[in-house]
Amino acid sequence: MLDFSLNTEFLEMDYPELKSTCLGCQRCGLAKTRTQVVVGAGPVPCDLMVVGEGPGEQEDLNGIPFIGKAGQLLTKIFESVELDRERDIYITNIVKCRPPGNRDPLPEEIDACKPYLIRQIQLVKPKILLVVGAPSLRTIVGGESTISKVRGTWIHAKVPYMDEPLYIMPLFHPSYLLRQSSREKGSPKWLTWQDMKEVKAALDFYQSSISAQ
Ligand code: URA
Repeated sequence: MLDFSLNTEFLEMDYPELKSTCLGCQRCGLAKTRTQVVVGAGPVPCDLMVVGEGPGEQEDLNGIPFIGKAGQLLTKIFESVELDRERDIYITNIVKCRPPGNRDPLPEEIDACKPYLIRQIQLVKPKILLVVGAPSLRTIVGGESTISKVRGTWIHAKVPYMDEPLYIMPLFHPSYLLRQSSREKGSPKWLTWQDMKEVKAALDFYQSSISAQ
């Protein structure tokens, strides 16, 4: 499991400083091939955070995560449970620069980017973290599990600086869902919809318990 409380070199940074440092980042080879750094988007702090794999072509051109075809599907999935991505979700990736040809990020690229991800999680302080796709699952949760084995199950992480445990939910990557035509019961698209209903119910429960205090 990624150590969310690890003191990185960015420990003292607030979000604007972290963002501007990340925008000028030269920590790995992806700096040479990227068009733009895709730091993240959404409110800070935010109860719900999504961590994908890495920017694709559209994200690299525009500097915004999940806005290509896969991102549009992810946005629709959020909307199906009445979540507005700009208002309700902070979205980022494990690597902030596009791997050429959309290949999987290399271990050294993931390691170079980890201090940004850790500081983002510390500043966003999510109650629920959605881990989207296998590289994100391996980076955040660790182990060799596949998304199809663990999706739909909550993983609890104790984070010392947070009052409540962090709840992590692995989800199928929307690029994978784009290749699946079926919406039948039991299909990956149907399962993802069930997972998002579960996430929305947990989020509503948490937010209503806070507002009742
Ligand atoms: N896929 C991802 O994992 N992240 C993005 O931002 C876009 C596509």
